[in-house]
Amino acid sequence: MALGKCKECGRECAQSAKVCPGCGVANPVRISASRMLKLFGIAVVGFFVLLGGLFAFAAASKDTHPVYTPAVEVAPVLTPFSSMQT
Ligand SMILES: [Zn+2]
Repeated sequence: MALGKCKECGRECAQSAKVCPGCGVANPVRISASRMLKLFGIAVVGFFVLLGGLFAFAAASKDTHPVYTPAVEVAPVLTPFSSMQT
């Protein structure tokens, strides 16, 4: 368990502590800058991974689903409307 100092009285207490055991102030230990930076880094990396995944998905779906060719060329009898009703 990580320890930190209370922002009010300076007493050592757990970072996860809701109140300081010394003075009773709420959320006594502030999250350190390095911890914030680490969380921010994870968020940024996660964002780019997600973005990369979306691009890969978009590219893959583009390849597997070629440009729409009108059904008229395949079956001249059927109009787009009659094929929708079936
Ligand atoms: Zn305190």
